[in-house]
Amino acid sequence: MNIDYLIIGQGLAGSLLAWELIQRGCKVVIVDNGQENASQVAAGLINPITGMRFVKSADVDTLLPTAKHCYFQLADFFQQEFYVEKPMLRLFRSDGELANADKRLNTPDYQAYLGDMQFPGKTLDNLATPFGFMEQKQTGYLLTEPLLSCLKTFFIAQDSYRQADFDYRDIQLEPSLHWQDISPKQIIFCEGCQATQNPWFSYLPFQPVKGEILTLEHQTELPDKILNYGNWLIPLNDHRIRIGATFDRENLNIQATEQGKNDLLNALKQISPGLTHTTLVSHQANVRPCTQDRQPFIGYHPKHDNIAIFNGFGAKGSLQIPWHSRHFADVLLNGFPLSKTCNIQRYLEYKLCLCLQAKLPLLLTPLTYIPAGKACTPAVSIFSHLRRHETHFTA
Ligand SMILES: Cc1cc2nc3c(=O)[nH]c(=O)nc-3n(C[C@H](O)[C@H](O)[C@H](O)COP(=O)(O)OP(=O)(O)OC[C@H]3O[C@@H](n4cnc5c(N)ncnc54)[C@H](O)[C@@H]3O)c2cc1C
Repeated sequence: MNIDYLIIGQGLAGSLLAWELIQRGCKVVIVDNGQENASQVAAGLINPITGMRFVKSADVDTLLPTAKHCYFQLADFFQQEFYVEKPMLRLFRSDGELANADKRLNTPDYQAYLGDMQFPGKTLDNLATPFGFMEQKQTGYLLTEPLLSCLKTFFIAQDSYRQADFDYRDIQLEPSLHWQDISPKQIIFCEGCQATQNPWFSYLPFQPVKGEILTLEHQTELPDKILNYGNWLIPLNDHRIRIGATFDRENLNIQATEQGKNDLLNALKQISPGLTHTTLVSHQANVRPCTQDRQPFIGYHPKHDNIAIFNGFGAKGSLQIPWHSRHFADVLLNGFPLSKTCNIQRYLEYKLCLCLQAKLPLLLTPLTYIPAGKACTPAVSIFSHLRRHETHFTA
């Protein structure tokens, strides 16, 4: 079967890219092993202003309208709401946080995202707010699980879905690309954190981070707003909340742990002693595909331009993936240049710069991004790429 794109992975990245390409008339097949993935576990939060210093996410002014447009279009198509817009209350944890927020309130390009600020003394029912709080605007969350389920049904109906554990050794690259009975023009890998096992792209500096999330039932009256207190709380309805998420860079597995659960429950108790009596509905864990420079990994393999990657959306998939799906579709179909910040080419260029600065012969320098013990294919391809550029760079 001849197709345009074979996409590996039906998380949010693979699904939205496949959707975009199908909308533009491409024949796509998406392969997934059917296991629970990071997208299904994720809270799907979109929060333009984050961290103790209240920093606006890079490019949020561009990413957010595209994300909302994409999710509302999908809601129209499937006649089901996927993106829930809900303001967020940021409960300050120190005087320093309050001072930082106060400063941002006077910064013009933050004003669209920040609401009223309340100084210490103002209270909220059933919540401890010793340092005050502030409302954040243009926040919300994506119901990723129902969205991916609808998209899977859609792909199956289009004859565009295969459930399989994709084995990299089954790819034939030359003389033309093949996998099983399929001859795609290109393969695009969207395997989330499992990309660290991909022999062509494992050289990229992924920094996966495990996270755990709880869904709880409770009887405490809470504001109908997302809460952010270092962790976050999403009110799903009057008696059901999700809280999360832990950050663990060491134990990169999908086991839900007692430690993770206790950390989340203890943080919850600090802001609302009433929430001590809760019933656990579910406890999930998965691994975020984070990257060293916190930018996505998108682009063609340096040697084989018929294989590509669309990955590395870290902890911000809901915000970033819609815009990047559209952008990458423009690159693939219309020859647009790929944005430099997300293009994986940056790692080859960085490597070349280091070599030039040090005036080292390129062939003798270590290959920074190849973890010990990994397959040699990417090493060979970077090597040959470096060799091809050697004359140019040393001239
Ligand atoms: C606890 C937690 C909380 C999070 N909270 C948020 C949040 O609030 N907001 C937000 O925006 N983001 C959040 N994220 C991050 C978000 O989940 C990711 O940014 C996003 O889901 C990544 O999507 P993906 O498609 O790249 O990866 P995934 O969703 O992991 O999808 C990859 C898919 O590829 C499949 N696959 C991989 N290898 C193979 C193979 N060889 N054969 C077949 N199939 C394969 C996997 O099974 C999987 O289905 C959170 C993540 C976690 C873990």
